[in-house]
Amino acid sequence: MQSTFSNRSLLRPRSLPDALAMLRDEGPLTPLAGCTDLYVALNFGTLRDERFLDLWRLEALRTIEARGDVLTIGALATHTDLIRSLLVRARLPMLAAAAREIGGVQIQNRGTIGGNVANASPAGDTLPVLAAADARVVLQSARETRRVPFTAFYTGYRQSVRRPDELIVAFEIPRVRGRQRFRKVGTRAAQAISKVVMAGVIEPNVRGGRRVRIALGSVAPTVVRAEKTEAALAAGASIDAAQQTLLTEIAPIDDIRSDAEYRRRVAANLLGRFLAGR
Ligand SMILES: Cc1cc2nc3c(=O)[nH]c(=O)nc-3n(C[C@H](O)[C@H](O)[C@H](O)COP(=O)(O)OP(=O)(O)OC[C@H]3O[C@@H](n4cnc5c(N)ncnc54)[C@H](O)[C@@H]3O)c2cc1C
Repeated sequence: MQSTFSNRSLLRPRSLPDALAMLRDEGPLTPLAGCTDLYVALNFGTLRDERFLDLWRLEALRTIEARGDVLTIGALATHTDLIRSLLVRARLPMLAAAAREIGGVQIQNRGTIGGNVANASPAGDTLPVLAAADARVVLQSARETRRVPFTAFYTGYRQSVRRPDELIVAFEIPRVRGRQRFRKVGTRAAQAISKVVMAGVIEPNVRGGRRVRIALGSVAPTVVRAEKTEAALAAGASIDAAQQTLLTEIAPIDDIRSDAEYRRRVAANLLGRFLAGR
């Protein structure tokens, strides 16, 4: 049943310091960015939260910039901002590719990268990209700013290290060298949540084994880096052997969108095609 608005309130800070002070002094508050996830919960009657903090006007959180080797993407950058950004397209084309496959144009115009990450769905499309890119999450409260490796951000299904008085303000992404790829397998190309999603990086010019970073979504309670598979490839494993290793380290489930066996096969196929350059 649709939730009502009457018992809910919305605080609208004018600046980031205002927003952080409100979180400190007037919490608990639920941050609200593009509202594309929150509105679904509101509509289904599953949104229990009553007091919200509207981030949408905080332009400072929308910036995308590069300083030296680090690309910084503000949490409020929308998927459309990511698709249009020349910096993202040049430095992290797999992120632009992921953004292009999120929802439809309306969702891309409103949905933000910060919301995608904070929502913490294991099927979120930008998550494997940030994991494979070795991104850092920049968290800020009125008291301090801290940086958390993306791979340490989630602690369980829909759980993260973000404290209630913190906002995700940005993502910092070191320069990614070599070949990168984003692939999403869903029921159809647009408006479909993934059955399996993968992002990968193959670094160039490494003798012996391959230095590969692989991250997968929708195969575990959180997005995962395939560390055993990465280690096997670094030690010189063949594509077949790497696929077998991957199958031992992912544990997808049956759910409304797909079943575990299909997800396992698709994940192995995506890895094989990526490694073979297809
Ligand atoms: C029709 C439809 C299709 C969709 N398709 C896809 C898809 O293909 N792929 C996909 O990955 N997602 C999809 N989504 C989900 C959603 O659009 C994305 O997750 C989007 O990026 C969420 O961003 P938002 O700004 O709208 O988040 P909001 O709804 O505003 O917030 C989501 C959560 O993040 C928290 N939050 C937001 N910003 C911050 C911040 N800066 N700091 C701390 N917490 C914050 C909020 O409190 C809330 O818990 C779809 C949604 C709809 C309705």
